[in-house]
Amino acid sequence: MCFTASLTLPVFALGACIGSFLNVVVYRLPRGESVAWPGSRCPWCTAPLAALDNIPLFSFLLLSARCRYCGAPIALRYPVVEGIGGLLAVCTCILWGFTPSGLMWAVFLATLVAVALIDLDTFVIPDSLCLLLVGCGLVLAHVSPDEGSLSSRLLAGALSAGGVWALSVMTRGGMGMGDAKLLGAMGIALGPRGVAFAFGLAVLLGAISGVWLLALKRKRSGDPVPFGPFLVLGALVAALGGNQIAEWYSRALLGILD
Ligand SMILES: [Zn+2]
Repeated sequence: MCFTASLTLPVFALGACIGSFLNVVVYRLPRGESVAWPGSRCPWCTAPLAALDNIPLFSFLLLSARCRYCGAPIALRYPVVEGIGGLLAVCTCILWGFTPSGLMWAVFLATLVAVALIDLDTFVIPDSLCLLLVGCGLVLAHVSPDEGSLSSRLLAGALSAGGVWALSVMTRGGMGMGDAKLLGAMGIALGPRGVAFAFGLAVLLGAISGVWLLALKRKRSGDPVPFGPFLVLGALVAALGGNQIAEWYSRALLGILD
């Protein structure tokens, strides 16, 4: 089944629901709580949320960004993640349609969003999410062969993870084991070209934001900054626009060489 413009709103709404679930995962997984039970609660007064308080994007506006029961503010991040979920679902359907590879890319991208937010909050990338990403990559090797054969993906994953692991041992900080595992999973899903592009973009974005945070005095030299969110940004760009960017880049390069 192909994606048509009339399906944009339902697909966005479904993606926003996935984004809402990601908010639950990001809050509960690092605390060791079940992501399935109980239903959503206010993190401050723990009042269970009624169905009307739990509609992605709308409830935030409906409640004027405050808990109905205790009045505690609801972080802007909740609707932002729901919006990102909606956008990713639409992009995934445009690129891959309602196919097995589209479904697998959707799971992969949603998991990446959870990884980025948990790393931002806790400086830890959960092994369970890395394993899920590896699983997605192995399935993608079969259903989305454009990114490379299974052996080239496994090699890309092993080299990427090994390289970052060696870097983390040599620099004793900066990147950590979680980053190595995440990059390994990205290598399997994105293939050699995709993971190289994603890593390059992550280093560039990380360097720019590092300089920016120092200039704004939000961080001091030596303060820890999680690298996972930059790897995730790189992976999102590589997955959603990798082929087009590679084509544009090689054309630009040929233009310069001419
Ligand atoms: Zn409350």
